[in-house]
Amino acid sequence: MNYADSERLAATLNKSGYQPTDKEKEADLIIAVACSVRQSAIERIWGKAADWQKMKQKKPLITILTGCVLKTDKPKLYQIFDYIFEIKDLTKLPIFLGSRGFTHSLPKADYFKVHPAYQNDFQAYVPISTGCNNFCSYCVVPYVRGRETSRPARDIINECKGLIKKGYKEITLLGQNVNSYGLDLKNKIKFPSLLKTIANLPGNFWLRFVTSHPKDLSDDLIKVIAENKKICRYLHLPVQSGDNKILNKMNRKYTQKHYLNLIKKVREKIPALAITTDVIVGFPGETTREFENTLKLFKVVKFDMAYINKYSARAGTTAFKLKDNVTKNEKEKRYRKLNKILNRTALEKHKKLIDKTLKVLVEFKRKNYNYGKTETFKTVKFLTKKNLIGKFIVVKIVKAQAFGLEAKLIKKYGT
Ligand code: SAM
Ligand code: SF4
Repeated sequence: MNYADSERLAATLNKSGYQPTDKEKEADLIIAVACSVRQSAIERIWGKAADWQKMKQKKPLITILTGCVLKTDKPKLYQIFDYIFEIKDLTKLPIFLGSRGFTHSLPKADYFKVHPAYQNDFQAYVPISTGCNNFCSYCVVPYVRGRETSRPARDIINECKGLIKKGYKEITLLGQNVNSYGLDLKNKIKFPSLLKTIANLPGNFWLRFVTSHPKDLSDDLIKVIAENKKICRYLHLPVQSGDNKILNKMNRKYTQKHYLNLIKKVREKIPALAITTDVIVGFPGETTREFENTLKLFKVVKFDMAYINKYSARAGTTAFKLKDNVTKNEKEKRYRKLNKILNRTALEKHKKLIDKTLKVLVEFKRKNYNYGKTETFKTVKFLTKKNLIGKFIVVKIVKAQAFGLEAKLIKKYGT
């Protein structure tokens, strides 16, 4: 989401007469897009802000903060940033800059109407909704991003049509819970229909979406993915915990059984599907036995990849009222235990891909290697002096690791 925010931010600044620079020291204006989901992320902002304070002593520099910022952090942050604004108020930014000697201002429009400056010419992130109504007890998103607001389907489809016309190869639809897309719109179009409409647009592209909430993943959505080859065989389905008591305390509104049934169902209907997840270790009061249920779930599901998070208490959330009583040390231990299982299961899966030919979208080149992703979101590197960035390439897998694959180019590699 922060990536999509940055693209809209860059476009707004561009219209206001600003040019980007790679060299921080040359900047007249720095805007940080914060993430307050975990304390560690906001601490990075503090570190950077200290450097910018030093820069300000040597030259005129405006520093601005946006993204997800907790209400309780704002007073302190205001002491070091010149301006803090909510990303949904992006169109007000030029007015602030105008007051600093820049006369450009944009007509008032909502965030979704700001046309983004895409960071590359083959992959794009298209927000379909902002905010969230789920109020998981540990999460700041509903407080910092507000309630869920869906973007009109016509605008989303038009943005995708424009991207495909320009030759974009990969479109990722973004929302905190894509499965509840459209419920707040007058013309109640549901996510599976939106996805199907976009997948049916003519063109050579892959379609992805994140994130799906397990309580809302419908049979209709599974059917649409199964029936449309352009929709990547990849599902990010955050579980957060494998224990029912913790899931209840997290306000996730599903049980371990529901989650496992979902996994069984999606794998039956879409056998090639890769499944990734988010999980939190050390939620307040999580006992060893409760954590073991998460370990068991990991062993059963065998995720392709998981983002393992150590619980971080966030002011203003319901869980903040609970005692953060799992020690740092214990959180680290649980993190490592889960990671060990993940490494094992991911490696097992990757080994099965050896000698298979797979299609890859090349993302970047480093030294003599090109790096890309399969439609199952696996990173693949292969040796070639050619620069194949932005192209679909067919490669043969020669080596498997837990978090990536190595391949070689085959004779007819272009698609
Ligand atoms: N909307 C998505 C969902 O429902 O799963 C995820 C959005 S959240 C910004 C990304 C991930 O951060 C979550 O899935 C969760 O695992 C993690 N997260 C959120 N709040 C956290 C907290 N207080 N401590 C640790 N991890 C947290
Ligand atoms: Fe946060 Fe839960 Fe909403 Fe995801 S669904 S953004 S974890 S409140």
